[in-house]
Amino acid sequence: MVSQIIFVILLIAAILFFRRNVKIIIRNINLGKDLDISDNKAERWKTMFRVAIGQGKMVKRPIAGILHIFVYVGFLMVNVEMIEILTDGILGTHRVLREFLGAGGYSALVSILEFFALAVIAACATFLWRRNVLKIKRFHSREMTSWPRLDANLILITEILLMLAFLSMNAADYLLMHRGAIGGLAVGPFMVSQIFVPWFKNFNNETLHFIEQFGWWFHIVGVFAFLNYIPYSKHFHVFLAFPNVWYSKLGPLAKMPNMPEITKEVKIMLGVLAEEENPEDEEMPSFGAKDVTDLTWKNIMNAYSCTECGRCTSVCPANLTGKLLSPRHIMMAVRDRAEEVGKNIDKHGKDYDDGKALLGDYISPEELWACTSCNACVEECPVDIDPLEIILSLRRNLVLEESKAPAEINTVFSNIENNGAPWQFSPEDRLLWAEGLDVPVMADVFAQGKKPEYLFWVSSAGCFDDRYKKVVRDFVKILNHLKVDFAVLGTEESDSGDVARRAGNDMLFQMQAMQNIEVMNGYEVKKIVTCDPHDFNVLKNEYPELGGKYEVLHHTQFLQQRLADGSLKIEGDAFAGKKITFHDPCYLGRGNGEFDAPRDVLNAIPSLKVEMKKNREFSMCCGAGGGQMFKEAEKGDKEIFIDRTEQAIETGADIICTACPFCLTMLTDGVKYTNKEEEIKNYDLAELVSISLGL
Ligand code: SF4
Ligand code: SF4
Repeated sequence: MVSQIIFVILLIAAILFFRRNVKIIIRNINLGKDLDISDNKAERWKTMFRVAIGQGKMVKRPIAGILHIFVYVGFLMVNVEMIEILTDGILGTHRVLREFLGAGGYSALVSILEFFALAVIAACATFLWRRNVLKIKRFHSREMTSWPRLDANLILITEILLMLAFLSMNAADYLLMHRGAIGGLAVGPFMVSQIFVPWFKNFNNETLHFIEQFGWWFHIVGVFAFLNYIPYSKHFHVFLAFPNVWYSKLGPLAKMPNMPEITKEVKIMLGVLAEEENPEDEEMPSFGAKDVTDLTWKNIMNAYSCTECGRCTSVCPANLTGKLLSPRHIMMAVRDRAEEVGKNIDKHGKDYDDGKALLGDYISPEELWACTSCNACVEECPVDIDPLEIILSLRRNLVLEESKAPAEINTVFSNIENNGAPWQFSPEDRLLWAEGLDVPVMADVFAQGKKPEYLFWVSSAGCFDDRYKKVVRDFVKILNHLKVDFAVLGTEESDSGDVARRAGNDMLFQMQAMQNIEVMNGYEVKKIVTCDPHDFNVLKNEYPELGGKYEVLHHTQFLQQRLADGSLKIEGDAFAGKKITFHDPCYLGRGNGEFDAPRDVLNAIPSLKVEMKKNREFSMCCGAGGGQMFKEAEKGDKEIFIDRTEQAIETGADIICTACPFCLTMLTDGVKYTNKEEEIKNYDLAELVSISLGL
């Protein structure tokens, strides 16, 4: 009876304390701004089953993935045992399920549970070995200081001890039941705990009783303690991973959320909205995020769901080349700051200002500006966390509230604003690239009462970058060869605003977007094809929210379609015997899920193909995205473009092919830097097709 009372007191205390801790975490998550995520419920459930319950992303790294599944499934299974322990503890019974299942059924059930317990022990021991003996790099980086490291080790050791308590309890109990020292049905032997039996059988009943009781109490008290430790630890992900995945970003990774508070301002500036609709006394919202309270609740939930596994950091091109940025650190910083703000509220009330902020005190501008917005971290995260969204929100604050962009980025902003391109070229020169080619201009075609099937969106790089001008010229030759009904906007096209948005200037992005949309809608544009994956992404995914709804194709997709319908036939053998490797542009591949189109087209060109080790969704960024193309890289031990070029060189390829103006520039620079210009050539896919066609 005494033990029943102690048990019930412990149980109630554990539940109440856990409830209190969970309420604190929910309050901290709700420090973030409101965000409605109630769309696509069916898709969300599917994603949760695949990613969280099915551990779909864990197994992409098979060793760690399978070991984690052992721990995850094992721990769930062993806790079936908890039902019996709780019942026994409250009612004062002993192995209450014996009578219901019979000796055979009960022994089989416990044997299965023991098998899972053994799997948990093996997996946790391997994890400890990987962390502490093998010292795998991602567990020892800058942010993995004493507490996060100790936290991971403590949990692994606790899990092993809990499983050992379970097994030793079963072995001792088996002997006691079969000696008749415990009443009721004698069950067992159990599959795994049998290994303890030869050792235990020389013990007297008192000793076995002690082991059995110790194992039982250690197991249950350990579980109660574990339950109340995890809210203080990264292991809270065992609960939050499921809702976190349910709320994860659906649709293209490269799509950035719009800032509706800016849309109104921009519409007034462009005269689309009357000023009266924005009364002056209306409080100006703050832009971007400076502290956790400016992030969304989803961003903070992401932080509490982070397992600190470091997979994101291990694929981050900035981190891999020695920069300060680590996406895992971004998530840990958000959680730490949310905890701090929460404690301040508890101590000093909700209006207390401790003079600190996430931006500056926890995360430095240097980290933020090192990000290439490549989405590798998002793709890699086993629980669908999005560090990039937080990075870009903080960047927006730096730029829009504090005007603290790097000098080169400020120059890009003013060039886009004044010239409609990131470089200092006159908008009047936007059609010079087409000299000597048959390129219909939309205004002329429209004046003749015709509406071309496609708008060919040339992009700022296509108009002004000397190397990329060759690519768009080659693509136009292909369009003409295929007799495609198309036109370009010519001097009416302006920069898409992609660089401005990724660099934090959403005001400028929206101004560019709305002007372009006005022009395109004026011409009743329905279909767009473009060679630039960055512009492809904004035109396809981000212009619709601002009123520009088009069917947008990247040129690789367009060529893939033409091959499939038989209108494009590549018979030339200009590249026969040449080995070609394809570099996936982040905004086409990971950002928009298009990996096959460029490969299908490449496969139609007679040549040899070879993949880099990091390809498709695991491809590494060239280092140009997110505004990096226009600024010096942050301090590190290597340039990203050199690293990626070396990976291409490693394949022994004669040609590095890509399908993006930024990637082409970076990889061309990489080839120059590594003195391989004689051996390796860089091409865009459009050039390979055009040359193969003899155009
Ligand atoms: S988006 Fe790319 S560069 Fe930025 S943090 Fe993630 S992995 Fe690193
Ligand atoms: S963000 Fe995701 S990948 Fe990165 S450490 Fe956290 S759980 Fe791991």
